[in-house]
Amino acid sequence: MIPMVDLKRQYHMLKEDIDSAISRVLEDTRFILGPNVSALEEEVAAYHGVRHAVGVANGTDALLLALRACGIGEGDEVITTPFTFIATAEVVAALKARPVFVDITPDTYNLDCSQIAQKITAKTKAIIPVHLFGHPADMMPIMEIARQYNLKVIEDCAQAFGATYHGEKVGSIGDIGCFSFFPSKNLAGYGDGGMIVTNSDEVASMVKILHNHGSSIRYYHQEIGYNSRLDEIQAAIIRVKLKKIDQFNALRRRHAAAYCSAITSRNIILPVASEGCEHVYHQFTIRSDNRGALADALQKKEIASAVYYPVPLHQQEVFMKLHHDSDPLPQSEKCSQEVLSLPMFPELSAEEILLIADVINKVSR
Ligand SMILES: *Cc1c(COP(=O)(O)O)cnc(C)c1O
Repeated sequence: MIPMVDLKRQYHMLKEDIDSAISRVLEDTRFILGPNVSALEEEVAAYHGVRHAVGVANGTDALLLALRACGIGEGDEVITTPFTFIATAEVVAALKARPVFVDITPDTYNLDCSQIAQKITAKTKAIIPVHLFGHPADMMPIMEIARQYNLKVIEDCAQAFGATYHGEKVGSIGDIGCFSFFPSKNLAGYGDGGMIVTNSDEVASMVKILHNHGSSIRYYHQEIGYNSRLDEIQAAIIRVKLKKIDQFNALRRRHAAAYCSAITSRNIILPVASEGCEHVYHQFTIRSDNRGALADALQKKEIASAVYYPVPLHQQEVFMKLHHDSDPLPQSEKCSQEVLSLPMFPELSAEEILLIADVINKVSR
């Protein structure tokens, strides 16, 4: 059995460090906004070369609080991709703002920057690029458009911790970077967790206020906020893994290269890394017009595969109900019919990759 992600292999490798990090928290008993949360915030800020990092309860809240800190609310429009996890656009709608979807380029599955400007209106306040599957979105044109139209840029880095764009870490390029530490992400805890990074003192202090009931002085409240603090035990676990993240990402890149040389079928479209981009392969996603047969053949050999994502957001029932201008977004629609993600995690073995590639080559010659 080869799963999409095998969290057990990594736990066994790091068991001593993780178990002792957890016991130290239990002995220390500072469970809420304790020393591991502030240490992780400092370490993540330093890793990204930014002034601030603030832990929050999950990646969805990172996006939500980032939007709130940028003052986005009722009636505003936010440009984003339809080819992503629901959370990216869900938070926009949760604030009674409107997600405006721009199609993707099928090579990287990220925003097609040439189509952004035509969707900007007087109501547009921000762009949320997603670094999907670990591949950086094309940030240079995005930042250029944002400067030109005075828009905020909130990077959804949930799948891309450590990825770089022309030498800069994703999350440090726009106004705010949002991360998720959900257990299957490439940097993860053993439960929910998230973080924002920013160079703005105002944004950082507003997220700190919002994530703790709109309060900076206990029992004095200046905003309607949330209970969205990063958990101390999760922070202790993530600190252990942060030390290894570059090594883990390098292994993912090595596995991706091994997949690419072992999958020889000309009917499969393999993932690519654009010039100047360091991909972290949160997912290894191939494309085929025959993906059902591939998934079936893999399943027969007890190999997992998954479709991220089967329905682009502009065609999701919830957004169809909310908006009536669902322009066709042909690349997103086509990709959602053809993508298939294969097992990918640092501990995957060379033999497993060859076995998986062999099944794919046999089905799709
Ligand atoms: C996982 C994910 C999120 C949400 O993160 P949670 O921690 O699960 O709330 C947001 N955007 C993308 C692209 C994701 O993959």
